Amino acid sequence: MIARRLDFAGTLLFVFFTACASGERVELLLRGGLVYDGSGAEPSLTDVGIDGDRIVFVGDAAAKGVSAETVLDVAGLMVTPGFIDMHSHAVLDEDYGRDGTAFLYQGITSVIVGADGGGTPRLRERFEQLAKDGIGVNAIAYVGHAAIRREILAMEDRAPTEDELQAMRDLVRQGMEEGAFGLSTGLFYTPGFYAETDEVIELAKVAAEYDGIYDTHDRDLGASYKGVGYLESIKEGIAIGEASGARVIFSHFNAQGAHNFGRAPEGARLIEEARARGVEVAAAQHVYTATQSNLAAYAIPRWASAGGREALLERFQDSETAARLDIETMEMLAIRGGASKILIVDPRPELNGRTLADVASGWELDAARTVRRIITEANASVMNLDLYDIENTWFLAQQEWMMTCTDGRNPRPDQAISHPRVYGAFTRKLSQFVLDQEHIAMPFAIRSMTGLAAEFLHLEDRGFLREGYVADIAVLDRDRIRDLATYENPKQYSEGTVHVLVNGALAIRDGLATGILAGTPLLRGGEAVKH
Ligand SMILES: [Zn+2]
Repeated sequence: MIARRLDFAGTLLFVFFTACASGERVELLLRGGLVYDGSGAEPSLTDVGIDGDRIVFVGDAAAKGVSAETVLDVAGLMVTPGFIDMHSHAVLDEDYGRDGTAFLYQGITSVIVGADGGGTPRLRERFEQLAKDGIGVNAIAYVGHAAIRREILAMEDRAPTEDELQAMRDLVRQGMEEGAFGLSTGLFYTPGFYAETDEVIELAKVAAEYDGIYDTHDRDLGASYKGVGYLESIKEGIAIGEASGARVIFSHFNAQGAHNFGRAPEGARLIEEARARGVEVAAAQHVYTATQSNLAAYAIPRWASAGGREALLERFQDSETAARLDIETMEMLAIRGGASKILIVDPRPELNGRTLADVASGWELDAARTVRRIITEANASVMNLDLYDIENTWFLAQQEWMMTCTDGRNPRPDQAISHPRVYGAFTRKLSQFVLDQEHIAMPFAIRSMTGLAAEFLHLEDRGFLREGYVADIAVLDRDRIRDLATYENPKQYSEGTVHVLVNGALAIRDGLATGILAGTPLLRGGEAVKH
């Protein structure tokens, strides 16, 4: 927009020529909403004009003579940039998750995939397929350390040779060349766990060459068995960033386990200290007290998985090894609050929705043998109830470097019980942390979901509600916004999401998903992959 100041009869007049159209007509006008721009600034009552996939006007439409083909009256509603989910397991490659509806109903318009070390380095192939099949939200991807390590070293518990390390570097480079935003690791999991810090530094250096991010599910998080410890684990993540030059984000940052309740300020202090010495470190959170992962990760010591699944099953068969394993499994479960806190969310109907303790008593086995029997058939998705201290989570929400994530994976259609976060993480943060309990203010919360994330991602034209930016927009009813998904009944969309625009298209209109697949894979820097 160009503003020209005219002096007229001693009065200052401002004449505006909109960039949107010389005729001042736009395709869509969101009229009279309370607009949060994503920066953390206080909101203002104003209109938002959209043409194609861009925001072309923010201001008083009537005063500026801007009209529109379609006007949506959003008076009384919040208008925000579309939310960015900084750590998701959105199942975009399958028909049951492709539309992203569970995310859209939280106001989310972009999700990060390839987290926890799992992202493929063959990103072009994946993105072209996603663009061809269509997706409901934008996808941003990391290349994954575990995926690469598995390819080069299988499940071996050893350091790579120099040649192997070079092969791993080459795959990180391929991922970055093909548009990844950075490198993710899951050092808590196998095979990521088998990597020494130096290996990760070497690979993160490649990501850093491309202005890439180092995203980590760090090694310990506080509930790791014979782990490095809650604080050492954070120090390792920071050190990897410092040594590689990549900016660091801690996925789902928190302190796990009852023994770490109240300790989040200690972890936060490490991040503050690193930031003070110029390391770019940030984090993301969801606001549930339960995690979701897999049974082997929670109940099988890492040494037992070395060599892969067949080697693990052989160890189960050896009575001496199995006896040692069972002792360690019980110790691992104790760290997590016991078998009654492990809720199985695997699709197997005889397991879904039952605690490990419940299954064990039904089978008349102890918890360790139950774990072995379940895993002998197949590893299982599980939740760990009450692993996080909600007061820790409140504290972390108040940090200026804290973004927001779902960490959510769409449940399969035949899976009754799964983690509710895929349906409600963002709306829960807004309804509970902002509106009900007032731990953070609305502009601050919105920023944690939008502008802060976009700036960290170096996403040039998203994350803010400004002229020239892509029209990823959420329109929310402050009086109705809330998550409905519960642990008992998780498959429920959030409420209070009135309209959601993805790349300028209405993916939710008047509270109803339109079914349009308006998302696109985004290459590093923000360029869309078009089909
Ligand atoms: Zn994770």
